[in-house]
Amino acid sequence: LYKGSAKDFLASVRDKLSKNEKMFIVTANPEAFIYGQQQQEVEALLLDEATTVVADGIGIVKGAKKIGVEVEERLPGIDIAENLLQYGNELEKSVFFLGAKQDVIDALCAMVEEKYPSLKIAGAVNGYVDDKDAVFEEIKKLKPDIIMVALGIPAQEKLIYKHLSDFEKGIFVGVGGSFDVLSGTK
Ligand code: UDP
Repeated sequence: LYKGSAKDFLASVRDKLSKNEKMFIVTANPEAFIYGQQQQEVEALLLDEATTVVADGIGIVKGAKKIGVEVEERLPGIDIAENLLQYGNELEKSVFFLGAKQDVIDALCAMVEEKYPSLKIAGAVNGYVDDKDAVFEEIKKLKPDIIMVALGIPAQEKLIYKHLSDFEKGIFVGVGGSFDVLSGTK
């Protein structure tokens, strides 16, 4: 579990993006840890050394404190998503969006084209297609720099984790309902 400040964390994400490194961020709320107790696959991805778990909400910060782990502050997934769009724009990187309803995806892409014109949209697929593994096969060919998956916890994390080892680079993050908010739909 990441314990430092949000500012330092975001700076490290930007650094990894600029160096074309690979990173898997799990923005964990209490539900995520409960799924980790119930599902072996979720436990494995949370405990993997290569996963960066951040406290998405005060529940995790307080829960960690109870077991003697000091976490400086919470870092909501939407803040990570928004900053990633900004960094991607500044560094002229590419992004792939998977998740949410088609009208949300359309509104999100329109917003990104207007607000982050130097960020290339490598692809955008709604989260209600049957074969999401096939979408990931497409993502592997496109090699985008940022991959945001908005299917809700833990489906988004399980999908990313299943395919992660096939990628050499990319900032992967499950962003829950962030597309709905960022697109202005919600
Ligand atoms: N979603 C999706 N496909 C599904 C189920 C959900 O794309 O089969 C999307 C849904 O449209 C929403 C997001 O996943 O945009 C889940 O948001 P929610 O706020 O429920 O997730 P949380 O942030 O609580 O994990």
